[in-house]
Amino acid sequence: MTESMGPLRSDPSTGPRCSARRSNGEPCRNRPMRGQAVCRKHGGASPQARAAAERRQVEGQARSLLAELGVAPVEDPLAQLLRLAGEVLAWQRATAQLVNELESIRYRAANGTEQLRAEVLIYERAMDRAVNVLAAIARLGIDERLVAVTEKQADVVVAAINAAMEAAGISGEQAEQARRAAAQHLRSVA
Ligand SMILES: [Zn+2]
Repeated sequence: MTESMGPLRSDPSTGPRCSARRSNGEPCRNRPMRGQAVCRKHGGASPQARAAAERRQVEGQARSLLAELGVAPVEDPLAQLLRLAGEVLAWQRATAQLVNELESIRYRAANGTEQLRAEVLIYERAMDRAVNVLAAIARLGIDERLVAVTEKQADVVVAAINAAMEAAGISGEQAEQARRAAAQHLRSVA
């Protein structure tokens, strides 16, 4: 059996043909297996070839779903990370949709063993990536919230200082000095 791979022939009336050649050098005229360049006889039926073909097909489907989703960046100063998160989550949703459309998450391989479908493996990888990117954002979000709390507390303190000075009848340059001293003190605490 020869495995010399010629260019993929495509005849619009009859569809693509196997790209391998017969032992006599003539092109093989069999139909290639789905998602492949070669026929069953020329290696298209091997588990590796089938798995690779299925993975290519699923990734192609997921990519076109992703394109349809029209991924929009999330607004924030952390633009890069959030844009990436938007894509990761869209990819995760696209792969989840593929898994939801499956009738069974397993299939029986040519050698008789039960195998997880490629969709499930791709979905699991997408889930891991989503968890990682969300964890990174959550950590940043918590920091931002802590800063916001500190600023809110400072506002409360400044309001209290103003109220105290008003009650004590302090105004003008003296009041301004007191505010500056308080602000400086708060900044050093922060
Ligand atoms: Zn062939």
